[in-house]
Amino acid sequence: MLEIKGLEVKLEEEDKQILKGVDLSIAPGTVHAIMGPNGSGKSTLSYVLSGKDGYDVIGGEATLDGEDLLELEPEERAAMGLFLAFQYPVEIPGVGNMTFLRTAVNAQRKARGEDELSAGDFLKVVREKAKSLKIDADMLKRPVNMGFSGGEKKRNEILQMAMLEPKMCVLDETDSGLDVDAMKLVADGVNALRSEGRSFLVITHYQRLLDHIKPDIVHIMADGRIVKSGGPELALEVENNGYADILSEVA
Ligand code: ADP
Ligand code: MG
Ligand code: MG
Repeated sequence: MLEIKGLEVKLEEEDKQILKGVDLSIAPGTVHAIMGPNGSGKSTLSYVLSGKDGYDVIGGEATLDGEDLLELEPEERAAMGLFLAFQYPVEIPGVGNMTFLRTAVNAQRKARGEDELSAGDFLKVVREKAKSLKIDADMLKRPVNMGFSGGEKKRNEILQMAMLEPKMCVLDETDSGLDVDAMKLVADGVNALRSEGRSFLVITHYQRLLDHIKPDIVHIMADGRIVKSGGPELALEVENNGYADILSEVA
């Protein structure tokens, strides 16, 4: 599904290399987690995958189902089935949540050469999915994320993800600042979307999210590289001992 090989990235504005050869291979239907100390390049990796400006790829490659992701515009990446949920969901004043979702879904369908959903069909699908995520109708009518609590914003992101039906979902520290209940909602949302053809890359600073989203593989990132990979026990090791032991072991 997602293949990253030797990915090296520097800042556009500064002569500073952030990713120093990231290798990552994610098979269909699997959940991978990346943990790692602050500043190790986790967010940079998700930004580069999404096509955010400000970064220069100076080496390596990233493909989704064999297609070169790095050559595509952000919206083309989304149309291919890449979805990114960020640490801080943006508020969009004046744009109704429902309008936003419908525009996003139809833009994606168009890019895939599919017909737009009719207003009626769209409503039916969005209501169904919102209900299963315990999102009330009121939240659908309000402007995107405006005045939403931290937990509501996260649920809304999961709703966006459910509506777009991506095949590769990247969640960057989507658990930060959430209380345990809100975190569990996010985890339940992700778990409900797990399927054979859909993969997840969950970036998190804390082990607790991984208690609820049980990853198949855990990676540790440090100083722009993935330095260790293992099973869920690796996350527990981090929880119990911090990163110091792992980092000195791989040094
Ligand atoms: P993480 O998500 O693992 O905490 P980041 O990818 O956010 O790490 O950051 C990796 C490193 O790159 C940090 O040292 C950070 O300060 C630096 N960095 C990332 N983006 C920028 C930027 N736009 N300008 C300056 N430094 C940046
Ligand atoms: Mg950070
Ligand atoms: Mg980060």
